[in-house]
Amino acid sequence: MEQKSYNPYVSAQIQFDAVADMLDLDEATRQLLRQPIREYHFTIPVKMDDGTTKIFNGYRIQHNDARGPAKGGIRFHPQETVDTVRALSMWMTWKCAVVDIPLGGGKGGVICDPRSLSQTEQERLCRGYVRQVAKNIGPLSDVPAPDVMTNGQHMLWMMDEYEAIHGAHYPGVITGKPVGMGGSLGRMEATGYGVIFTLREALKALNIDIKTSTASLQGFGNVAEHAARLYTKLGGKIIAISSWDNIDGKAYTFRKAEGLDIDAMAKIKDSYGTIDKAKAMELGCEVLPGEDWIAQDVDILLPCALENQITPATFSKVSDQVKVICEGANGPTTPDCDELIKNKNIYLIPDFLCNAGGVTCSYFEQIQCNMNYFWSKEEVLEKLDQKMTSAFYAVHNLAQEKGLYMRDAAYVISINRVAQAVKLRGWI
Ligand code: GLU
Repeated sequence: MEQKSYNPYVSAQIQFDAVADMLDLDEATRQLLRQPIREYHFTIPVKMDDGTTKIFNGYRIQHNDARGPAKGGIRFHPQETVDTVRALSMWMTWKCAVVDIPLGGGKGGVICDPRSLSQTEQERLCRGYVRQVAKNIGPLSDVPAPDVMTNGQHMLWMMDEYEAIHGAHYPGVITGKPVGMGGSLGRMEATGYGVIFTLREALKALNIDIKTSTASLQGFGNVAEHAARLYTKLGGKIIAISSWDNIDGKAYTFRKAEGLDIDAMAKIKDSYGTIDKAKAMELGCEVLPGEDWIAQDVDILLPCALENQITPATFSKVSDQVKVICEGANGPTTPDCDELIKNKNIYLIPDFLCNAGGVTCSYFEQIQCNMNYFWSKEEVLEKLDQKMTSAFYAVHNLAQEKGLYMRDAAYVISINRVAQAVKLRGWI
């Protein structure tokens, strides 16, 4: 069967247009919000270790900054496209608005595979990226952060290059920095924990005991690992994890019906989330095809990898037992699948609410950098829990009151907030 291809930017616009219609948004606001405000496309020459020079394509896209500086990660991925970055920048605007933090939406990306680059090549790539956007980012204009396949070390190299160019210290130019170098305690856990804070509240609202619940997880990067850790700590059981195998170039699902030991699984993965198959078998895991994660008899599906994973084709394999889909990734579900999720009566926690914990903690990191006073991990995670829980109930309550699908309810809140900021500023 031929696979339908999905463009995330088209998906983001379909989602936006539907809610803009629902809100009867005026034409000018609609035109402004359905596309990015500014885009930077550039090339990055990088001297490779073997003496050759490679040219990489990079992007930084600012979707909207009416509520505050643009905010959002930089991804390194071989399949990165400008439209993916556009979509992700748009989702960042809605994400910051739904948790009500004073930031806008932006995103960056480089088409590259960091798994095939040495540390020194990665450092030169990071510095080269910043040299191209040094005039267009900044603590008061656009603040990058880590995303898929980027980490604290990358952020620190980027900050260092920015500071060298501008000749002063600017810890607020980037977040997700290592702890001790301007980073916040709890940032590593924040996105995954935020996912589970919203799931915990959703299960309460649905009268499901987390302690008897089961879940299947897609992805085993930073977000997925910490989501799995907190979910199992609260008593839930993860029975399957699907992760990308860098050597074989495909994904596998690791299943253990009695529940996976997340600590043990984390010990046998590399920094990109590839799980060692032989060691997983020693731990008693069955090794199944990558796409099997979605077909498990579980209560909760946790897509925490990339976009376009839950499509009408893959959704046809979802078990009748599934009650909640918790979108830890950005854009994991295609718009043509939303109707199917509704019809199956599955409760959805939409991506830009569900995974907003990362950027919320980035906001805390900015506050701590500005004060030059750093909070304890407990304090960070407690504040994060409060923010995520109240954002969850704002969306859940609106969905209940107006009979809306959760994704639409989240959009209603975010679009209204951004549209109001645009009007108050006199842009429209
Ligand atoms: N890349 C993360 C996201 O998609 C975090 C962004 C940030 O901290 O600015 O939400």
